[in-house]
Amino acid sequence: MNVTAATLDTKPLDRFLWRKDVPICADGSVSARKRDVYLVILDQYASIDEFRAVFGVDNTPFVKWLESRGFLVAGRATTRFNHTGPSVADLLNGVTRPVRQEHWQPRDPREVLNTAVAEVFSPMPDCVAIRENRTLARFTGLGYHTVNLGSWFPCTRYNALADENINVYAGEFREELSAIVYQSTVARLMYVRDPEGLRRGILREFDALTRKNSTGAPTFTFAHIICPHSPYVFDRFGAPPTATEYKDLYVGQYQFITEQVKKLVARLQSAQAEQPVIIIQSDHGSNTDTRYFNRVFSAVFVPDSRPSGWRDNIPASELLDWLFSSFFGCASAHL
Ligand SMILES: [Zn+2]
Repeated sequence: MNVTAATLDTKPLDRFLWRKDVPICADGSVSARKRDVYLVILDQYASIDEFRAVFGVDNTPFVKWLESRGFLVAGRATTRFNHTGPSVADLLNGVTRPVRQEHWQPRDPREVLNTAVAEVFSPMPDCVAIRENRTLARFTGLGYHTVNLGSWFPCTRYNALADENINVYAGEFREELSAIVYQSTVARLMYVRDPEGLRRGILREFDALTRKNSTGAPTFTFAHIICPHSPYVFDRFGAPPTATEYKDLYVGQYQFITEQVKKLVARLQSAQAEQPVIIIQSDHGSNTDTRYFNRVFSAVFVPDSRPSGWRDNIPASELLDWLFSSFFGCASAHL
């Protein structure tokens, strides 16, 4: 397949026509559109200064390692919310996120079902905002193949608006109904609350992130990894933890997942002739100390360029607007 031609085609946005605020970005950079994009959300991954101040551990070697590989790391990145639902919704929709009652009505019949089912198990209005998000619509408009790599959290488990769904918890599912049956019923007790099931699921998510899609189109992959968020199933070396104190459990899991991210980044950067865009982002901090409730970890790799406008205190709600504007060259990014 002629990749250049493929990336110049923009896919119809039928699935997103109800979103009036999604710029198509027809004027954007053609070379940027060849790049795969990975948005990896590490749930409850504390910022560097929170980790140092609250847990007494210096994680700056990780920052230096990322910077040595070309990452931009925001030392004082923020979020408006310190809970998963609103924070992830904010990240994916940006500052233009509308009030749900006015705009967030699902239009796709599958989405009605998905949302209804999801909210039975996790009633939060942000589920719809997370699934029908503007970032997914934008990448669809740019001609990307979109992948939702789901967690066991209902709002990110499955997304009917993505081209492809992969859920590796309690088996591997590409349809939500199967995932729901396994993860929300008796099997939930067996897998989602089972440390071994969680350990396998998290590690499988990392493996799945390095699979290459076969469509020939550039790929946008959204991955929600619920770690270092509890349950605590890893010590710093990846073994089942033996610690009993919360801080020790959190630190161990944090350090283990940091090493997994390093392996992932190394693999993603070396596996492709054209390196991908990689975003490593936490949805919120550890929620241990109120001084850090609005602080997040935020690191972005943009290949072959040093985009302008990066800020050490970039808010999560502006991160993707910044990427679309500075890397993809979407002049209309803020419309
Ligand atoms: Zn969270």
